[in-house]
Amino acid sequence: MTAHRRLCLVLGDQLSFDLASLQGLDKERDSVLLVEVMEEARHVPHHPQKIALVFSAMRHFAEALRQAGTQVHYVTLDDPQNTGSVPSELRRWQSLLQPDELHITECGDWRLEQSIRTCGLAIEWHRDSRFLCSRAEFADWAADKKQLRMEFFYREMRRKNRILLNGDGSPVGGAWNFDADNRKPLPKGVRPPAPARFPPDTLTQEVLALVAEHFSSHYGTLANFDYPVTHADAQALWDYFLDWGLAAFGDYQDAMASDEPFLFHARISAALNIGLLDVRQLCSDVEAAYWSGNIALNAAEGFIRQLIGWREYVRGVYWLRMPDYADGNAFGNTRSLPEFYWTGATRMNCMRQAINQSLEHAYAHHIQRLMVTGNFALLAGIAPPQICEWYLAIYMDAFEWVELPNTLGMVMHADGGYLGSKPYCASGQYIKRMSDYCRTCAYKVSESTTEDACPFNALYWHFLMRHADLLRGNHRMGMVYKNLDRLTETKQQALWQRGQSLLARLDEGESF
Ligand SMILES: Cc1cc2nc3c(=O)[nH]c(=O)nc-3n(C[C@H](O)[C@H](O)[C@H](O)COP(=O)(O)OP(=O)(O)OC[C@H]3O[C@@H](n4cnc5c(N)ncnc54)[C@H](O)[C@@H]3O)c2cc1C
Repeated sequence: MTAHRRLCLVLGDQLSFDLASLQGLDKERDSVLLVEVMEEARHVPHHPQKIALVFSAMRHFAEALRQAGTQVHYVTLDDPQNTGSVPSELRRWQSLLQPDELHITECGDWRLEQSIRTCGLAIEWHRDSRFLCSRAEFADWAADKKQLRMEFFYREMRRKNRILLNGDGSPVGGAWNFDADNRKPLPKGVRPPAPARFPPDTLTQEVLALVAEHFSSHYGTLANFDYPVTHADAQALWDYFLDWGLAAFGDYQDAMASDEPFLFHARISAALNIGLLDVRQLCSDVEAAYWSGNIALNAAEGFIRQLIGWREYVRGVYWLRMPDYADGNAFGNTRSLPEFYWTGATRMNCMRQAINQSLEHAYAHHIQRLMVTGNFALLAGIAPPQICEWYLAIYMDAFEWVELPNTLGMVMHADGGYLGSKPYCASGQYIKRMSDYCRTCAYKVSESTTEDACPFNALYWHFLMRHADLLRGNHRMGMVYKNLDRLTETKQQALWQRGQSLLARLDEGESF
């Protein structure tokens, strides 16, 4: 028997054929290890569809590697030998195979990487080259800056990767950012495309049965699982978006509509985050669609900004600031997450829509996450670890490197403004402007202090009054505080009282 040279561990979110640690494998002497472990599936109560996605995509990836002639060791969740965690499985296989070398590509999440780095094995680590900006490059960029801002990072990424640039290096269209064009509500009569669906094959059905057996206590339904689990199907999802979604993505990026969970969004985040799609290819396809005249610049630029701006930026911040970043709580919040986040049992229509579709599809688009469920948690002063756990658990695309900065930083402003310059707080008026949710809501968005007034309204003013010490001096909040100061003393008192009473009701476990 040939001596075992290299064992390469591939994690559930590293399912890319061009993963750095998979390069140069010798089919005779090297092998790949994939393990389904309880610790990763249970460290928060992940949505069952997310567990199914990761396990099924892992099994399909293992099969594809085998077909290409690679030796693969695969440990299923219910394998009686399975020791339950990545480090313990790594030790077990190290001792079984006695490879000369262990290779791993750096992890997405700090927690898992720490547990592997401290498991007592000599490991050769590889950079995760699937991201455009390495951890070290981001740290270099951040080193001489007093304050980090995504916009400047994004411009740097555009320049470095030569995306949407004129020959002289200036941005196409004369500006770096066309976000102002991307804030339209959905007009009557404009219908989003039907979502692309990928019915489960036999392998996925086996995984769905396994998940149903072990994770039935987790929130969220398995019934609607229709997500791609192979590279080919992820590509089909992407092609569908290029054909039917991208042209309108820019205009209606911030829009929300009742019973329309996906609108013109790509739905690719989970596939991308686990390695079924490649960010460079996505950017190049979007740019090609622009140059060929198929889509407007605001759509192309808007989409590319999410990918090479926000996505790379939040990853950079995460790795620069962990582990302390997770402890941020700039407002000193202590309130528990209301139960209705896990059940959708609320009379606030916007919250019910966003939460129910999350339970049903493990998906909500960015504005629902930021301006509905996120905004409510910010205004209500929810303890950051509790709301972060919810986002990490409930979304199919949630991995801590991307979830935490978005939730703790962008939504909760709990990092004191490190990631974003101001909190995205808003009253019910924003939700009314960008959606049709308020039309059929039990609460009146035009009211703020009556019993049937939209809770977002008083909570918004209460938040501003409560945190005036911290926020009044922020120049980007100047207009907001001017508006507060214009309210009469009596109105301010009424808003404060209504806010107090709503918060007290939350503390008593009441749903609105
Ligand atoms: C509180 C909160 C939590 C979030 N948690 C996650 C998460 O755990 N995982 C995740 O992938 N995204 C997260 N996002 C970002 C964003 O909401 C999702 O990427 C997006 O909704 C995914 O749907 P889509 O593929 O249809 O995206 P589209 O709207 O079609 O956007 C295209 C792509 O851009 C990228 N993108 C857009 N915005 C962001 C962003 N702010 N950060 C990182 N990438 C972005 C995603 O890869 C996305 O697929 C979060 C946002 C908020 C406000």
